[in-house]
Amino acid sequence: MTLAERETQVVERVPKQLFAGGTWRDARSGAVFKVEDPSTGSVLCEVADAGTEDGFAALDAAVAAQPSWAKHAPRERGEILRRAYELLMQRQDDLALLMTLEMGKPFAEAKGEIAYAADFLRWFSEEAVRIEGGYSLSPNGQARFLIMRQPVGPSMLITPWNFPMAMGTRKIGPAIAAGCTMVLKPAQQTPLSALALADILREAGLPEGVLSVLPTSDAGGVTEPLLRDGRIRKVSFTGSTGVGRKLLEQSADQVLRTSMELGGNAPFLVFDDADLDAAVEGAMQAKMRNIGEACTAANRLYVQSGVATEFARKLSERMGALKLGRGTEDGVQVGPLIDAKAREKVQSLVDDAVGRGARVLVGGSAGDGDGYFYRPTVLADVPQSSELSTTEIFGPVAPIISFDTEDEALAAANDTEYGLVSYLYTRDLNRALRVSEALETGMVGLNQGIVSNPAAPFGGVKHSGLGREGGTVGIEEFLETKYIGVGGV
Ligand code: NAP
Repeated sequence: MTLAERETQVVERVPKQLFAGGTWRDARSGAVFKVEDPSTGSVLCEVADAGTEDGFAALDAAVAAQPSWAKHAPRERGEILRRAYELLMQRQDDLALLMTLEMGKPFAEAKGEIAYAADFLRWFSEEAVRIEGGYSLSPNGQARFLIMRQPVGPSMLITPWNFPMAMGTRKIGPAIAAGCTMVLKPAQQTPLSALALADILREAGLPEGVLSVLPTSDAGGVTEPLLRDGRIRKVSFTGSTGVGRKLLEQSADQVLRTSMELGGNAPFLVFDDADLDAAVEGAMQAKMRNIGEACTAANRLYVQSGVATEFARKLSERMGALKLGRGTEDGVQVGPLIDAKAREKVQSLVDDAVGRGARVLVGGSAGDGDGYFYRPTVLADVPQSSELSTTEIFGPVAPIISFDTEDEALAAANDTEYGLVSYLYTRDLNRALRVSEALETGMVGLNQGIVSNPAAPFGGVKHSGLGREGGTVGIEEFLETKYIGVGGV
C-alpha cells in the first residue's frame, strides 16, 4: 500500500459523527465542518458539527450514567483503561499517522504522543484501585471521623489541538478511574484523534453514556449552556489563558470545580557552569518538541554572558540542520504550524524583536510550500522589552537573552504573568536548588529539557492554571472528600 493510500485509509476508518449516549450519530442540525491538513491546506474530511441540542443530549446521557458508573467496581474501571491502553499501543502507527495528518507534527513525534497518551490510561488504570479514605477518633475522643472519596460527578472536558490525544487521555484517564461521567469537546482543528479515542474506549468496554465526544465549530455555544445548567459539576480545561478565564467566569454561576491547564512562557536558564552540550540538547527538546507549539516550550533562553556566544553558535547549528516538511515524509523533524494565523503571529513576534535590535542567526522566515511552515529560528541579543518575552511564541523560534548575575536571571525569568515550567542548567548543586526554589513555576526541568510524564504532577501557578494532572494527585481533581462525623463513642 502506498503512503497516500494509507493516509486515506486511516482517515476513512475514523467515525465522523458525534459520540453521545454510547452511539454514533449526526448532529441534530445535520451540520458538518471541515478538517484540514496544515501541511497542505487541503481538506481531509468533514465531521459532524455539534450544536447546543447535541450538548444537552450528551449531558443527559452523562447524568443518567453517573449513579451506576460511580458504583462500578474500581477494578473494572481500571481494566477498561488498561484495555484501552493496549489498543492504543497496538494501533500506534495508524493513530500517529492520523494525528500527523490533522495536526502536522512529524510522524515520529506523533508516535511518541500516542505512547505518552496511552501511558495516562495505564497510569490511571493503576490508580483506580487506590482511592483511599480515612478513619480516626476525634481529638476529644467523643466522635469518630469517617472520610470517604466520591466522584465529583458529570464533568466537562475541553482540550486543545496541540496534543490532540494526550490532552484527552490526561483528563479521561483520571475521570474514568474516579468514576465520573464526561462530555469531551475536542479542538475544532483536531477532532479526529478524539473520535478515534472514543471508539477505542467503547471497544474497551466503557459503558454507554460515560463518555460523549462533541466536535463543534461553536465551542462556546455548546459548552457554556452546559456549564450554566447545574448538572455538570466540574470543568477540566487545557488551552489558552484567555479562554480559561472565560470558563472560570462561566463556572462561577454554578460554583463548579475547575482544573485549568493554561498557557506558558517558560524561561530556560543556562549558567556559566553548565554542561554546555547538555544545555544545547535540552534547549532543542524544550524548544522544538511539537514544532514549538507546546505550553512547556522554552520561550526565553537566558544564557550567562560567559557562554552566550558559544551556546548561540551551537544551538544555531542544530536548529539550522533540522529538516522542515510534511510530517509524513521520512526524516522530517519540523512540521507546519497549525494555521496561517499562527504563522503570522510568529512572524510578527520575530519582526518586533528584530526591530528592537535582535539578530537573526538562523531562520527568521516562512518555509516553502502550501502548508503553514516556518523555519527553525534562533535570535541573539534579544532585548527583554521584546514582545516575545511576554507572549507565548508557539512556534520554532528560540530567542537568546544574555545575563550577568543569578539575581538578574531570576528576576527576568519570573517577570511574567505565567508560571507553568522553567528550565535550569547548572552543575552547582547549591545553585540548582536555590534557583529551583525561587522560580515561580509549577514545574522545573533541572538539567533536563522535558518535564512531561504521566507519573508526575503536571501544572502551573499564576496565570498558567489551577490544579495538577497526572501523578498521584491527578485523580484528586475528579474526587470530592466527604467527612462523616460518627457520634456515640
Ligand atoms: P484555545 O484557543 O484556548 O482552545 C482550547 C480549547 O478551548 C479548544 O477546544 C477550543 O475550541 C476551546 N474554546 C475556545 N473558545 C472557547 C469558549 N469560548 N468556550 C469554550 N471552549 C472554548 O487554545 P489552543 O489554541 O487550542 O491551544 C493552545 C493553548 O493551550 C496555548 O496557550 C497552550 O499553552 C495551552 N496549552 C496548555 C497546556 C497545559 O497543560 N498547561 C497544554 C497544552 C496547551 P475551538 O478549537 O473550537 O476553538
